[in-house]
Amino acid sequence: MRRLLLVAVVAVLCLGGVVSAEGASTTPVPFPAKPVGLKAPVKLPTALDATPAYVPQISCQPGTPAGVAKLRDLVLKTYGTGGAGNTARTCNEGTSEHADGRAWDWMVNVKDARQKKAAGDFLAWLTANHGENAKRLGIMYVIHNKLIWAVYREKEGWRPSSGHTDHIHISFSWNGARGNTSFWTGAVQKVDHGPCAYFAGQPAIPSLTPRFTPCGKQISLVRKHPNAIALFGSKAKTVVTAQALLKIKQTKTFDQATTYAVRDYQRAHDLPVTGMLDVPTWASMFPAKATNDVTAGYNAKQAAAYGLKTYGGTTLRLTSTGKGSAFLQLALGMKPADRNGYFGVVTLAAVKKLQADAGLQQTGIVGKPEWQALTAR
Ligand SMILES: [Zn+2]
Repeated sequence: MRRLLLVAVVAVLCLGGVVSAEGASTTPVPFPAKPVGLKAPVKLPTALDATPAYVPQISCQPGTPAGVAKLRDLVLKTYGTGGAGNTARTCNEGTSEHADGRAWDWMVNVKDARQKKAAGDFLAWLTANHGENAKRLGIMYVIHNKLIWAVYREKEGWRPSSGHTDHIHISFSWNGARGNTSFWTGAVQKVDHGPCAYFAGQPAIPSLTPRFTPCGKQISLVRKHPNAIALFGSKAKTVVTAQALLKIKQTKTFDQATTYAVRDYQRAHDLPVTGMLDVPTWASMFPAKATNDVTAGYNAKQAAAYGLKTYGGTTLRLTSTGKGSAFLQLALGMKPADRNGYFGVVTLAAVKKLQADAGLQQTGIVGKPEWQALTAR
């Protein structure tokens, strides 16, 4: 029985792939013992870039940033085979770094001998020495021929995944996507944390600027609406509802015109300008009913009293997000659609007006004197 089991295991290994040069795990395609790999355009430093952590899709900014384009061009030039593949043009394929512009699919098919050899060389080179070159390129993980390898779990080698028999999926860190890693620049960079979401579970404001401080604690939604988040490219039934509310052409698809209209709506109503139909935006568009609001049951005067008691010892300012901002917006008498718990430019203008009316300095920062002024109104 035991021998039979061993035979079965060996058979599975032989079918599923090959034993790698290190003999530690299976690989998606045969790996050469001495891969040729890619040639860096600069002299590489001794130090390696920090191991990229898994950072899932956070925004919708599909495209081909510098690091993705440079890797694609170098891979195609080096191996001269396989298709250039897609960099995403929409954001509705489920959670995927493609939507952030942080992924590339190299179209190499396991059924094509030349492409299979090229894939083996690239992946062997990328993952060798505990993923040295993945770190230098800022690559988080790769998926090929039903297996996944992640630099942040490199000790586990190639693990089961699915599909991807006609391409290699490559996901990048923000540093990698932007082309700032040592492979391209010759210098190890600080970790770029990318855009941060203001509300937990909601998308971030797209940004092309690196950010070197980690994201703060994500804030629970202060207003809820049952509609699901709809992203660029979506054909969900709710898209046409939004198009009607936004008074734009009802194309039934979340197209570019919808993105512009959503951004304009978000700017006008003090929402994080994500360009997506996220939950705060849905809640703002349906102000009277079907929203669940943390300030429910309070009027402006009660909100001011609650704010003074609860937030009098802290300060709120531009981009402050959460319950405090929601109570501030109610106390300021802002319109329901603009009370989203996000301290944006509409709130800022209302705060400055309050300060002017109350004879306070127009700092735009809300502390005890501002709450006191609100309770006195
Ligand atoms: Zn992909």
